[in-house]
This record gives sequence, C-alpha cells and structure tokens, in this order.
Amino acid sequence: MKRYLMYINGQFVPARGAKWFPVYDPSTEEILAEVPDAGPEDVDAAVAAARDAFEKGAWSKMTAQDRGRILFRMAEKLRSQAAALAKLETRNCGKPIAESEYDIADAATCFEYYGGLATKVMGQVNPVPANALCLSMREPVGVAGQIIPWNYPLLMAAWKLAPALAAGCCCVLKPAEQTPLTALEFARWFEEVGLPPGTVNLVTGFGETAGAPLAVHPQVNKVAFTGSVEVGRKIARAAADSLKRVTLELGGKSPNIFFADADFETAIDGALFGVFINQGEVCSAGSRILVERKIYTKFTEAMSAKAKTIRLGSPLERETKMGPLVSKEQYERVTSYLEIGKREAKLCAGGGRPSGFGKGFYVEPTVFCDVDNRARVAREEIFGPVAAVIPFENESEAIRIANDTHYGLAAAVWSRDIFKAFRVVKAMRAGIVWVNTMQPTYVEAPWGGYKQSGYGRELGPWGIEEYLETKQVFVNLDEAPIGWY
Ligand code: NAP
Ligand code: MG
Repeated sequence: MKRYLMYINGQFVPARGAKWFPVYDPSTEEILAEVPDAGPEDVDAAVAAARDAFEKGAWSKMTAQDRGRILFRMAEKLRSQAAALAKLETRNCGKPIAESEYDIADAATCFEYYGGLATKVMGQVNPVPANALCLSMREPVGVAGQIIPWNYPLLMAAWKLAPALAAGCCCVLKPAEQTPLTALEFARWFEEVGLPPGTVNLVTGFGETAGAPLAVHPQVNKVAFTGSVEVGRKIARAAADSLKRVTLELGGKSPNIFFADADFETAIDGALFGVFINQGEVCSAGSRILVERKIYTKFTEAMSAKAKTIRLGSPLERETKMGPLVSKEQYERVTSYLEIGKREAKLCAGGGRPSGFGKGFYVEPTVFCDVDNRARVAREEIFGPVAAVIPFENESEAIRIANDTHYGLAAAVWSRDIFKAFRVVKAMRAGIVWVNTMQPTYVEAPWGGYKQSGYGRELGPWGIEEYLETKQVFVNLDEAPIGWY
C-alpha cells in the first residue's frame, strides 16, 4: 500500500503530528493508500509558505506571460499523464473510466484557458473631471484558501488553482478527505513545470481539523469553497472574522423540465443523463424531473424502463456506465433517502443495492414517480442516483414548481417551441439554464448559483475576477497649489 506525502513549500512532507488516514477504492472497499492527517499546525505551515511566496513575489510579481507559460506546462503534464491520472481518479472515487478521462482533459483545458487569460488582465483609465490621470489596476488578492469536494477531485482542483494562479495568487488547497490522490500525483510535477516553492500547497486532512483552520486563518485573504450548504455556512461564518473574500458553490436540487412537444427519445436520454451521470454525485444534477401531464405516463414508463438497463460494474471496465458511490458514508446517506422516498412516492425503478455486488458502494439508478415537490426527496440534495419525477399541468405551474426550492444552481428546459423555452429560461432563478440538453459545462462560461446554491462565479473571466483586487491610482497633473489651507 502506498503512503503519500502532502506538499508544503515545495517539499513533500508528512503531517507534523505524524498521523495518517486511509483512502479507499469504493468499488472494492479496500484501502488504496494512506495520506497525512493534517492539523491546524500543518495548515499554519502551508499558509505561512503561501504568504511568504506571495510577499516575496516569486509568483505574484512574475510577468503574466511567464505565469501563463507555467500554466500551459501544467496543462501539458496533465495531458501527458492523463491515462494514469484517469485510472487513479476512477479507483479513488468510483466514476466510470471514460468520465475520469473526460475530467482530466477538462482540467488540462482549464489550465490552458487561464494560462491564456493571465496576459489579458487589464486596467483602465477613468474619465474623472480633473486635470489628472485616474487609473484602475488589477492586483492579486493574495493568499487563497481552497476547499474542494470528492465528486470531481482533480477537475475541482483545476477550477480552483488555475484562475488563482493566473491572477498571481498563492494557494493552499485542501482536497476532500475521500479523494486526495490525483492532486498529490499532480504536485509531483509542480517544481519541474516552474512553480516557485510555496505557490501551491496541498494539505490533506479532514474538514474539521484541516478545512476549518484554513477558512478562519487571518493570513488567508480569500476562501473558495465547493461542497454542501451546511459546510458553506460554516465557511462564511469562519471567514467573517477576518473579512476575507468568500466564494461558495453549494450544489442544488435542479429542475429538468420536459414539455410535451420535446423530442421524446432525446428527452428520455436527457432526463437519465441529467440525473445519473457520475452516479448522480453532481452539484448540478437534474434531480427533479418535471414532466408535462400530457406525456407523463409514457415518459415515466420509458424513463424507468431505460434506467433499469444502465450497466453498473467495476468503473475501470469500459462497458460500465455507473460505478459505486464514493464512500460508505455517502452510500448510507443515499440509501437512507431511498427508504424515505419509498414512503413519500411511487418507486418506479431501482430502490436499493443492485444484486450480484458483494462489495462496493453500489446503488441502483432509482426513479421515484408522482413525487410531490414538498417531499424530502424533492427538496433535499441527495447526491446520488435518485430521480424525483413530478408532473405539471402547464407552463406557469412548471415555473412555479421549478423555482420552489432554496437552491438555484441549475435548470434545464426541453421543448421545440422557442418562445416557451425562452420564457422559462427567463423565469428560472438559477445560475445556469440549459435548453434541450443538460450538463455540458465549458471553461469559457460562468458557473455558480443563485439563492442558497452560493455566491460568486467560477470559470471564464468571472473566475479570475474573484481572485483580483482593484486599485485606483490617481495621478495629479495640475501643478497649482492643492486644497484651501
Ligand atoms: P462537505 O462536508 O461540504 O465537504 C466539502 C469539503 O469541505 C471537503 O473538503 C470537506 O472536508 C470540507 N469541510 C467539511 N467540514 C468543514 C469545515 N467545518 N470547515 C472547512 N471545511 C470543511 O461535503 P461532503 O461531506 O463531502 O458531502 C456531504 C453532502 O454535501 C453531499 O451529500 C452533497 O449533498 C453535498 N456536496 C455537494 C457538492 C457540490 O459540488 N456542490 C460536492 C460534494 C458534496 P472533508 O472531506 O474532510 O469532510
Ligand atoms: Mg465531509
């Protein structure tokens, strides 16, 4: 069994307390590796390294061109190591290998995008009514603390690191306790690609002991978090004392709305893909499937029948379309919702552990029909392969049900009537709305939530903005005496 070290100030190190914890392969339930169990003193060391690197300027004062080139090299490394990284990702989090391959390529694209954007961060001249030159210039916010979940381990690390580095920030990243391995593998090349020591630090550990000290640390200027609403609230509170900047991406209970005039076969595939991709462990999962009454029975029958054909198996096998959930904890959480759902609604597919799986945290793709939007399975984020199908009578009812949630990350609408589809787009209180598709995500476009799905935006130019300060520079050009004294 492999023991990994974490990465602080350009060195691979154990935790100061010399403690370790196991990470698992969720398809076999076997231990895959051990990683350092970091505590507050390790977080202090990582933040001190990032602070020092930031103040000395090896990264923050490097030219934007040079920073961009290093980000391109990071992307190249990801691409050249993609096969091994994808395999490790799949073994650690259970997603089908094809999805891991896609994620690693996407992570590389993210570094390429921000490598290019590094040289496009520009200031401006402000037309003030004075004999002066009034400028605004952009500067890195400083040290960024970044806390990420287990559903897209390396891709979430890329979403956090790439824009921060492009902006000139130094980073301390805490991967999820379940899935730290691909980020640690990636760190092996940080020195070779040219990242100065302290620019990126990786601290492995648990939320309470490693995440919380990072969120509260006075030397951290900004916290970027992706995960649950519950922890998001804790992060915002922890960050309040030192008034650090905060961005939160907190998931959802996203509506996927099907009108009777949508192409039927595509709609069924879109409903399944929207909710079951990545075992349903997706912040933007289309977990509330709203279907117009006219096609409701036909739709639920076709969807349930097809859900039963989704192939579960070892995620390393190419034929597998759904792997195990990430952990025992998540398995227990999701299966407890299956019992809740059976009391609240009609079970139309799945509903338990698939037969023939002795080991592994497998759950059948599950479809609950005739769900009331007030039911727990329609309100609470389950983060597993569980769909709640809800009928609606007309457009206004669809809009009302869709927006009747504390969340507001994503929504999708399926119709061949562009007037109707666009009316629904405008009515949705959500940060992302898809039309006649669900889930495609591109680094060029903004990502983030309304309402309790969080605040701030990742990706595109919005993503780098969150890591930049704005400085006004006012240059007096008038040699006349100043003031009235
Ligand atoms: P989580 O508890 O929100 O964890 C996300 C990250 O925050 C992890 O790195 C976690 O560390 C860390 N963390 C936990 N407590 C913390 C604290 N007090 N201060 C600072 N950091 C802390 O999510 P989870 O436990 O992995 O999953 C629980 C539920 O969250 C899921 O069922 C799902 O509903 C939701 N979730 C949403 C997303 C999303 O993309 N929006 C992603 C994952 C989970 P540890 O891993 O060590 O706990
Ligand atoms: Mg947790």
